[in-house]
Amino acid sequence: MSFLPAGYASPVDLPFNRASLKDHFKPEAPDADPGGAGVWVLLQKQSLIVVSGGSAPTLPTAERAPLDAVSSAQPLYIGRWQGQPCRLLAVSQQVPIPQHLTAEPLLARDPHLTLPLLSLGGLGHMILHWETVSRHCGNCGGAMIHLDGEWGKQCQQCPATHFPRIHPCVIVSIQKDDQLLLVRKAEWPDNRFGLVAGFVDFGENFEEAVAREVREETGIEICNIRYIGSQCWPFPSQLMAGFVADYRAGELVLQDRELSEAEWFDKQNLPTLPPQRSIARYLIDAAR
Ligand SMILES: [Zn+2]
Repeated sequence: MSFLPAGYASPVDLPFNRASLKDHFKPEAPDADPGGAGVWVLLQKQSLIVVSGGSAPTLPTAERAPLDAVSSAQPLYIGRWQGQPCRLLAVSQQVPIPQHLTAEPLLARDPHLTLPLLSLGGLGHMILHWETVSRHCGNCGGAMIHLDGEWGKQCQQCPATHFPRIHPCVIVSIQKDDQLLLVRKAEWPDNRFGLVAGFVDFGENFEEAVAREVREETGIEICNIRYIGSQCWPFPSQLMAGFVADYRAGELVLQDRELSEAEWFDKQNLPTLPPQRSIARYLIDAAR
């Protein structure tokens, strides 16, 4: 049984984007913690720990983190979940999960989480990444503390301030007549294909990054690059800008460093595609 929608009307509705949280969660700064009991976003690596006894999973509720032994990290207040104070905590891999709780992988093909819980888990993952990489100032190495009312931080040793870093990436679905270009990374299961994607480089706009990534990874040239929509990808901190484009010229020549296969597939006869929860799948479906 899946708790997620069968499809998404628009890219903004995809998991991890704020739209799916808006009726459930009000983000606040870490220093706004009102105290008292609340709900917990407990993350063990890329899994969200939830109460799974009922029909749909829910967040555990308690004054203190409901696990015997948690990491030494301090809980972080992140806002209000359905009106209740909501706190985030990284749980180490060694901590056993009590029987009434379950660790649900956020990146499962069909996560056993509702859309708002999946997005909240992703948000928590992104915040924990920021907290981890922002312990020390990149300018002088000094310790950093949160600015008042912000997720941004102030160095205690030099005047530098630092703010959460979101990395822009592009991903593209390419068509040639009735065919789609799909690629496979070596670490993916056999017959599981996806789209060309990559990070935006210095000085590039999105369309330039799309054309370069396609050229570098597959050797072909594309045209008619059209923006479709985007998805927050909190693993750890990307923003995926999704495009469709048309084939223009060239033969497929793999860049062996990243991809193990690249192939034109008939739109009527596609291999195993990326899961529904991803912009990759949205772009493939948009081109079918
Ligand atoms: Zn500094």
